[in-house]
Amino acid sequence: MKRVTLLGATGSIGLSTLDILARHSERYALHAVTADTSHARMAEICRRFQPAVAVMRDESAANILRAQLDGSDTRVLVGEAGLAEVAADPQADIVVAAIVGAAGLWPTLAAVKAGKRILLANKEALVMAGGLFMDELHRHHAELLPVDSEHNAIFQCLPDNSIGGLDGAGVERILLTGSGGPFRDLPLEALGDVTPEQACAHPNWDMGPKISVDSATMMNKGLELIEACWLFGVGEEQVEIVLHRQSIVHSMVSYRDGSVLAQLGNPDMRTPIANALAWPERIVSGVEPLDLVQVSQLDFTAADEARYPCLRIAREAWRAGGTSMAALNAANEVAVESFLQGGCGFGEISGLIETVLDSLPPVPAEDLETVLEVDDKARKLARQVIQQRN
Ligand code: NAD
Ligand code: MG
Repeated sequence: MKRVTLLGATGSIGLSTLDILARHSERYALHAVTADTSHARMAEICRRFQPAVAVMRDESAANILRAQLDGSDTRVLVGEAGLAEVAADPQADIVVAAIVGAAGLWPTLAAVKAGKRILLANKEALVMAGGLFMDELHRHHAELLPVDSEHNAIFQCLPDNSIGGLDGAGVERILLTGSGGPFRDLPLEALGDVTPEQACAHPNWDMGPKISVDSATMMNKGLELIEACWLFGVGEEQVEIVLHRQSIVHSMVSYRDGSVLAQLGNPDMRTPIANALAWPERIVSGVEPLDLVQVSQLDFTAADEARYPCLRIAREAWRAGGTSMAALNAANEVAVESFLQGGCGFGEISGLIETVLDSLPPVPAEDLETVLEVDDKARKLARQVIQQRN
């Protein structure tokens, strides 16, 4: 029996993970869960799965949860201290990193330092501090399995143990696929007027609000490019982004001899989660079998950088190196949050990120303190720019 800690249990990835755990109660037990403030959803999860520990972000959410769970054996902890305790808890074997954004960095790193099997959904952690993250991974003999569907696909198309470097594998290129998001067919002039509701209505995937907006700007693919570079030890020039509107081919690996290996499946995150959870075994995920005759057509086109400037900005951030990627991530988080709350237009997101990057020349990302300092500076700067514009 493996014991699983689920960071970000109440989100889209969290709930998909719980769906799989419920199908395999003979194999996995839910040890601990964490969430921001959504206590009602957390109470439901705790009643159903009876984890040993639940962590809420603040005292008031924790108190409401305690009252709701009166009489149960689940211990309710609070805030950073609670997160730190569960991320490195020796009783857990597997940690699913499914918090959204920079908030997931230090708990995920704590799990890495505790030598766990980490199922990484929280791509922002790797984007911000990939070098440090990969160093700690090797130092503590932790195991990293990508949950992001593209990276899980690439992982499945590579020889075993390719995390951290592809030397000798004969890989020429990684082909990272992306659907192009909800605005892929919208005339460029109309992009300025789109609403948060429209941006969150992804044509193929059902996801949390932040990654949905990232998919619409394709910053998600930019972050994934950086994620792939860190995970597989390649340069950005080896990663090609290909638009694929059906989201059936989740990514591909092109080898020296001309072979291209792809992983296909219905767009449902339970497949990569089940793959990473059970790897190298395969378990049932509840995902419908792929009916290629019904899909009938798979399209591939080039990604247009005029429509998706975030792709260029992310590539440039990787090339600039150091703390550029932490600044990129922070500015993007602030811009997306502001767009979701009506503080800036969709068309302003990329310009805002570039302004922040231009004002913060990179320094080496030597330690977590440096990374978090740049994260903080970039957020403040992004908020200032938004305020000045309004
Ligand atoms: P979500 O918004 O649905 O859920 C986020 C979870 O994190 C929630 O449980 C929330 O309570 C928790 N959380 C948010 N802010 C927090 C904070 N400050 N402190 C502690 N907990 C906090 O997000 P999601 O769509 O499930 O995405 C989670 C991560 O997985 C993201 O990094 C995303 O990029 C990645 N991812 C998601 C998908 C998808 O299909 N949803 C696919 C690939 C990768
Ligand atoms: Mg993805």
